[in-house]
Amino acid sequence: MKYAIITGDSRGIGEAIAGQFIKKGIHVIGVSRNSNSELEQSAKSQGVSYTHVRCDLSNESELMDGIEQVMNLATKNEADKIYLVNNAGVIEPINPVGSLEASAVTRHLQINVNAPILLVDRLLKEANQNDITAVIVNITSGAAEKTVHGWSVYSSGKAAINRFTETASYEQEKAGNKHTIIAFSPGVVDTDMQGEIRSSREEDFADVENFKKLKEEGGLRSPETVAQVLLKLLDSPETIQSGQVYKLYDLVED
Ligand code: NAP
Repeated sequence: MKYAIITGDSRGIGEAIAGQFIKKGIHVIGVSRNSNSELEQSAKSQGVSYTHVRCDLSNESELMDGIEQVMNLATKNEADKIYLVNNAGVIEPINPVGSLEASAVTRHLQINVNAPILLVDRLLKEANQNDITAVIVNITSGAAEKTVHGWSVYSSGKAAINRFTETASYEQEKAGNKHTIIAFSPGVVDTDMQGEIRSSREEDFADVENFKKLKEEGGLRSPETVAQVLLKLLDSPETIQSGQVYKLYDLVED
């Protein structure tokens, strides 16, 4: 039995990735604050299960309860492979350093860094105890590797995720465990997060006009395209290398 745990499945990239797993006949467990009735319908018509675990990842006790629920669901029916896509994420606070609010920074890092780290930690523990293969994708961003005015917290969090991915993969390989742990950078995608970015003030985010232009010129990819590229990568075990940070731009032709 195969399961896919997708965080942030209610909309955007996570919804599209969950949809692709359902299409492949894989049972999906979604984690977010809001549920998604379209995924529920599509799972019904494909004859697979879709279970939504309502969880605010910014809240530590909800996160720990959520992890418990998700792992119970994913391991109860003799799972032999569990996919985990750590996709849920936020962009705010978008502010230059010197004008950051402590609560916004803490909330951001809890969602974008602590939650994925703790989910991976628990999944690897379960997988190694129960002879389950884990395939883990941490959704990252090109911002992890470049300096963007106003995005210090977001860039730092994604850089942490890249390093965490590489370290977790290295440790599992050293222990002789055959899991796959990668990071995947989706490029610029037409989601609510991009809407939020475009609504920033120029004093908070110097590049805002370029992001508005990119949208006007049709330069954003659809979440469905991103999900298809990721699933194609996961379907190529002969080429996929654990520990790598994959970039969508390197995997598509245009
Ligand atoms: P989005 O449309 O804003 O969706 C964000 C998802 O995260 C939603 O499903 C949301 O669910 C969930 N989420 C947010 N806060 C949460 C919380 N406190 N608890 C639980 N779930 C929460 O964003 P997106 O563009 O699809 O982004 C998905 C991932 O791609 C993120 O990691 C982002 O950093 C990365 N990314 C996006 C782009 C881009 O151009 N869009 C580029 C590079 C990387 P609820 O609101 O229902 O909780």
